Amino acid sequence: MRKFSAFAIAREALRGHKGWGVQWASPEPRSEYDVIIIGAGGHGLATAYYLAKEHGITNVAVLEKGWLGGGNTGRNTTIIRSNYLYDESAGIYDHALKLWDGLSQDLNYNVMYSARGVMMLAHNVHDVQVLQRHIHANRLNGVDNEWLTPEQAKDYCPPLNISGQTRYPVIGATLQRRGGTARHDAVAWGYARAASDRGVHIIQNCEVTGTRRAPQGHIIGVDTSKGFIGAKKVGVVAAGHTSVLMEMADVRMPLESYPLQAMVSEPVKPVFPCVVMSNTVHAYISQSDKGELVIGAGTDQYTSYSQAGGLHIINHTVDAICEMFPMFRRMKMLRSWGGIVDVTPDRSPILAKTPVQGLYVNCGWGTGGFKATPGSGHVFAHTIARDEPHRINAPFTLERFRTGRLIDEAAAAAVAH
Ligand SMILES: Cc1cc2nc3c(=O)[nH]c(=O)nc-3n(C[C@H](O)[C@H](O)[C@H](O)COP(=O)(O)OP(=O)(O)OC[C@H]3O[C@@H](n4cnc5c(N)ncnc54)[C@H](O)[C@@H]3O)c2cc1C
Repeated sequence: MRKFSAFAIAREALRGHKGWGVQWASPEPRSEYDVIIIGAGGHGLATAYYLAKEHGITNVAVLEKGWLGGGNTGRNTTIIRSNYLYDESAGIYDHALKLWDGLSQDLNYNVMYSARGVMMLAHNVHDVQVLQRHIHANRLNGVDNEWLTPEQAKDYCPPLNISGQTRYPVIGATLQRRGGTARHDAVAWGYARAASDRGVHIIQNCEVTGTRRAPQGHIIGVDTSKGFIGAKKVGVVAAGHTSVLMEMADVRMPLESYPLQAMVSEPVKPVFPCVVMSNTVHAYISQSDKGELVIGAGTDQYTSYSQAGGLHIINHTVDAICEMFPMFRRMKMLRSWGGIVDVTPDRSPILAKTPVQGLYVNCGWGTGGFKATPGSGHVFAHTIARDEPHRINAPFTLERFRTGRLIDEAAAAAVAH
């Protein structure tokens, strides 16, 4: 694989960029692999990459029913932060945040991680109490997070309306300075390229339609639209379709799948310096490097597999954005879309072994898994390679929904994003 460097870019510029070649191979599937990963989103591709890089397991295939990164990885609003309430969450999200810093160098691919700061707004007394509790908990875990007055929040983000003359007055905010955004497609492409370079097979347009088990119960492979493919181990990393796939192996998952929407505006010059989230009104905003305002909404109230959500949800979001940032009132929205997010009862992920030997699952990231991509792939690869969880993902079991040992970020924040 050609390495990206200043020298290579200059040389290619002089010869019309004809020498780059393909970024990842598209091989025909082998009859058997040591590990099959189902789902070529960021988490699946990262898992394959770390299996090869950290554990020397390269006889790996990533099977994708559509195109690489075409699921939630390519549909999200790219907010990255690690200021979650509980120790377990801080552990996994901060592990990811540390990997984001340096990921472009590790992959030799610019994932455009930009630590521009994530601000979370408080609009009422409850918000203030919840957010300040987060700050204290984060500091105990060594995670940066600080409190801002409305004036300090406006200093950090000048378009913010702090006049108080709105339905959602801003009465304070938290700021995680290491939080920010990354380019979602580049994350999928960078992991795919680096994994392929180490021998991993990435097989697109290959839908998994069934799983096969030996009479003793352990996994022996998967049925796909390209035929049966054998495997010693299978990792399911299929976001909104996880419960469908796990049902094929007779494992019932505590998951519900909801559409979640986002939209972008027409592109404008740099005007918005950070990421602003408001959990109370379910509106999130940042500006992409192309200049578009990237705006995220809340989930629909009904479960569904349609990759488009209700119009009233985005209307409500745009209402709130216009009140908080009146200067955007005359902006035109370019397009909106949806993704199917897999939500657990406690809004925390499941990264674990399953009751079926050789079958592993990484799911339940709901509305907020993009930020975890490097950390999730890293510890899930460990879990598959060693057949035991990494200490960071050890609490994120399937059994916790039976034992009651929940990691209840839903109760902590009312929303996880
Ligand atoms: C609108 C929106 C906004 C979001 N905003 C944020 C945000 O700001 N910050 C954040 O941290 N998170 C956010 N998220 C959540 C985040 O996108 C996801 O948690 C994360 O991308 C999940 O990655 P993944 O690799 O697990 O799943 P995906 O990228 O969805 O990959 C799963 C893949 O599995 C494939 N698949 C499914 N079934 C099969 C099958 N039978 N056979 C083969 N392949 C199959 C799918 O085609 C898909 O490509 C958002 C999500 C949405 C939808």
